[in-house]
Amino acid sequence: MNQEPRLPSHEETGNPAEKEVFDVIVIGGGPAGSTAALYAARASLSTLVVDKGTAAGALALAARVSNYPGVPDEVKGIELLERMRAQAQGFGARFVEDKVILASLAGETKEVRGAKGIYRGRTVVVATGALGRARTIPGEERLTGRGVSYCAACDGFFFRDQEVAVTGTTDEAAEEALFLAKLAKSVHLLVPTPKLTASPRLTSLVDSDDRVQVHVNARLREVLGDAKVEGVRVGTPQGEKTLPVAGVFLYLQGREPITDFLQDELARSDTGGLVVDDEGRTSVSGVFAAGDVVAQRLRQVVIAAAQGATAAVAAERYLTQRRGTAPTKS
Ligand SMILES: Cc1cc2nc3c(=O)[nH]c(=O)nc-3n(C[C@H](O)[C@H](O)[C@H](O)COP(=O)(O)OP(=O)(O)OC[C@H]3O[C@@H](n4cnc5c(N)ncnc54)[C@H](O)[C@@H]3O)c2cc1C
Repeated sequence: MNQEPRLPSHEETGNPAEKEVFDVIVIGGGPAGSTAALYAARASLSTLVVDKGTAAGALALAARVSNYPGVPDEVKGIELLERMRAQAQGFGARFVEDKVILASLAGETKEVRGAKGIYRGRTVVVATGALGRARTIPGEERLTGRGVSYCAACDGFFFRDQEVAVTGTTDEAAEEALFLAKLAKSVHLLVPTPKLTASPRLTSLVDSDDRVQVHVNARLREVLGDAKVEGVRVGTPQGEKTLPVAGVFLYLQGREPITDFLQDELARSDTGGLVVDDEGRTSVSGVFAAGDVVAQRLRQVVIAAAQGATAAVAAERYLTQRRGTAPTKS
């Protein structure tokens, strides 16, 4: 089974964002990415934000925020985030919903590969936050690419008419289960919490899809198989059970900086965060980073936003130096 990500071309996806080379590509549209986009767009830089989902970041999970300056009344994290995104869009930044799975950053034109398309930019700001996790489930690391996957759009095709498992509780897990239900024979959605925490719309779509079987309070304990996935061992309050699946798609959250799509291109600290200087520059020229993905002690919205602004200003300076002329200011 070849499970190299199968990336569709823009002829296949019709994704217009693939056709141009952007001045700035921001990976991640949380407070760091949205603020970077706001500053870049206001500096008349063509700006694309590639984000895997509105509800997938840390700010989106915050039930209440009351310490963001200038917003004295308690606000839901998702509302504050939507305002930030709308502000960036108001100045011309474009947002595309896609999960970045690979990035090639060393060259003059940087290439960012998502599950739905390939995007090119002269600079990149990495702002993917820190809700990632290490591959800690027994069998997970060994069978990655052999039935263990993190991207249904990339690998779902390989499991046509087979039984698969998806684990997670968020919008992302629900969406991927629904996507897989169109291809696979059946989908076991293993929800580690007492109920799915995806949006009501997605929860009702999942509940009404005959091909998706939801197992609540179900923890993925082990991925079984030698050369390829042959099943999963699942812990439930009633005891353990084994499901004979050919593929397992993981959408679990942790507290680690999300850098898996970068391979080893950018320098990281001992704790896994990206190393940047005080202008947000990473170890690769033209690549900047901001927010929780950066190695730092304090993870807060105000810090993520400030680092997003800093990174965008540094990207603008970098482009100006390369062009030898300043971009027109708005
Ligand atoms: C429950 C909770 C409550 C909190 N409460 C507060 C609070 O009250 N006040 C406060 O100041 N801070 C709070 N924080 C911390 C704050 O939310 C974070 O510090 C802040 O959101 C970090 O911003 P960020 O943009 O770096 O990352 P995030 O907000 O995590 O955004 C990252 C974005 O990157 C996207 N992304 C990730 N991987 C990919 C990929 N591969 N491809 C494309 N997109 C990707 C995600 O979809 C997401 O939109 C809280 C955090 C949590 C978890």
